[in-house]
Amino acid sequence: MTVFAKIIAGEIPANIVYQDDHVIAFADLNPVAPVHLLVVPRKPIVSVATATPDDEQLMGKLVLAAAEVARQQGLEEGGYRLITNVGRNGGQSVFHLHVHVVGGRALGWPPG
Ligand code: AMP
Repeated sequence: MTVFAKIIAGEIPANIVYQDDHVIAFADLNPVAPVHLLVVPRKPIVSVATATPDDEQLMGKLVLAAAEVARQQGLEEGGYRLITNVGRNGGQSVFHLHVHVVGGRALGWPPG
């Protein structure tokens, strides 16, 4: 069971900012920007690489929820970044699909 599955199950605490039947969003424990949230599907998909056509609607809900959370956090005007890391080279450390919502400062490009 991943740490995110435990948060979804209510077994460990998180600073939850949004939830519905399909997704949950909470503050990242180690923020890299003034606003750093994680938007996570309740379904335990490992990453976008293992999502299937059955997940098409859920993927849409995930991205729309990320945009809604960013809006609620006041990031829309200044802009922000959505990131989903995949596997070793992508820097993924929790193997339950999640979208990082990062904002509140100017972000560099390209990523390191
Ligand atoms: P990634 O490296 O893309 O898999 O991102 C995993 C993220 O989960 C990292 O940014 C961690 O800081 C974050 N994280 C790990 N454990 C927790 C936790 N218990 N609550 C909130 N965020 C966490």
